[in-house]
Amino acid sequence: MIKSNELYKVICASKYFTSDEIKNIYAQGYNDFGENQVQSMIEKMDVLKDLNITWHFIGHLQTNKVKYMINRIDMLHTLDRISLAKMIQKHANHKIDCMIQVNISQETQKSGVLLENLAEFLIEIKNYDKINIVGFMTMGVFDDIERTNDIFHQMNILKEKYQYPYLSMGMTDDYEVAIKHHATHLRIGRLFKTMIK
Ligand SMILES: *Cc1c(COP(=O)(O)O)cnc(C)c1O
Repeated sequence: MIKSNELYKVICASKYFTSDEIKNIYAQGYNDFGENQVQSMIEKMDVLKDLNITWHFIGHLQTNKVKYMINRIDMLHTLDRISLAKMIQKHANHKIDCMIQVNISQETQKSGVLLENLAEFLIEIKNYDKINIVGFMTMGVFDDIERTNDIFHQMNILKEKYQYPYLSMGMTDDYEVAIKHHATHLRIGRLFKTMIK
């Protein structure tokens, strides 16, 4: 099973797993967990509060849920619109490390800032002092490893251009491609099913 190293962190995308299963994965040496839904993340955080877990939020975040979670997570991977930044600014009691979700594939059903709007977004976001941009996040294209390869390549170019330290990309089916393009945070879910005892 893939483990974190000096190049990348392996985040267990734990939407598939109960708190007991997370304990099991944690016991096998994984400290980073990523959740997609605010309610289930908070429930798991409460149950697992004695473990030294780094919590990532990796799902679409509704503005009305921000106040329940923003001061409890270690990193938000899915900052994708200014209205969300406004809500974070309102409720955060410290600077929050955020990655900007970028929609490079231009698939309309996907969230994320479009490439053509990114420069403007980065200027606008400077007005929010509770937001600390640390990198970019994206999703590959389902069942299309060639397009995914191209998207991850473009993401690495963006990271170099803007000089942010982090790049969150790569899941069970495409994490090797993500590593090739210098991902720093892999979000891996289904693959962990194989190691639960
Ligand atoms: C579920 C999920 C993952 C992990 O997906 P797998 O294909 O199960 O590895 C990664 N990122 C996000 C945003 C997810 O929702």
